[in-house]
Amino acid sequence: MAINFNQAEFVLSAASPKQFIRDGRKQLAFAGRSNVGKSSVINRLLGRRNLARVGASPGKTTQINYFLIDRKLYLVDLPGYGYAKVSKAERERWGKLMENYFRSSGLIDLGVLIVDARHKPTADDVTMCAFFRANGCPHIVVANKLDKLKKSEVEPNLARIRETLGMEETDALVPFSAEKGEGKEQLLRLLRTYCETKRGGEDNGDTGEV
Ligand code: GDP
Repeated sequence: MAINFNQAEFVLSAASPKQFIRDGRKQLAFAGRSNVGKSSVINRLLGRRNLARVGASPGKTTQINYFLIDRKLYLVDLPGYGYAKVSKAERERWGKLMENYFRSSGLIDLGVLIVDARHKPTADDVTMCAFFRANGCPHIVVANKLDKLKKSEVEPNLARIRETLGMEETDALVPFSAEKGEGKEQLLRLLRTYCETKRGGEDNGDTGEV
């Protein structure tokens, strides 16, 4: 049965590995630098105004937030990176948390990397994309704030994102506007397709409820 992304609830914030959820449900991890609009993209996808907190003091959140979708899978909001004013200690905390999350094998099923459609991806974006790749994790790149581009800028900017992140032709890049809603259906379609494909011989987190 199709996953209903409008059926979402906040479950918990994890600040350390012992709090990571390991219940066998699939986990879709959303990553992006602070202020790229990650919270806005999540709210737009889930059809909610303020489930993920928009404009929440950038860089101050070294927590992983879990949202349970349709009781079937988790949307995992990874802490934003690349905020210039963050202290060294906080940056280290972020690095440790990420390392632990990525290292805890089997937690992450699909990565969604959100970048700014206007700009060349930052070194941190490239690192995050490489993280997904190194962990053998399928991923989708979302180019947000599309509404801020002129029509003529769209194609060249998307090509620059592909090239900078070293994406293959077949890797999914979704032009998106959290503000206007553009790209929402395409991204939901990709997420659904991915989630409804069972992992080889494994339980897909479906509780078997009828
Ligand atoms: P986060 O730090 O990545 O979670 O980013 P937020 O969701 O808090 O958004 C940061 C700022 O960008 C806010 O002022 C949003 O209103 C704005 N924003 C987010 N997405 C878009 C978009 O698609 N278009 C435009 N124009 N602004 C956006």
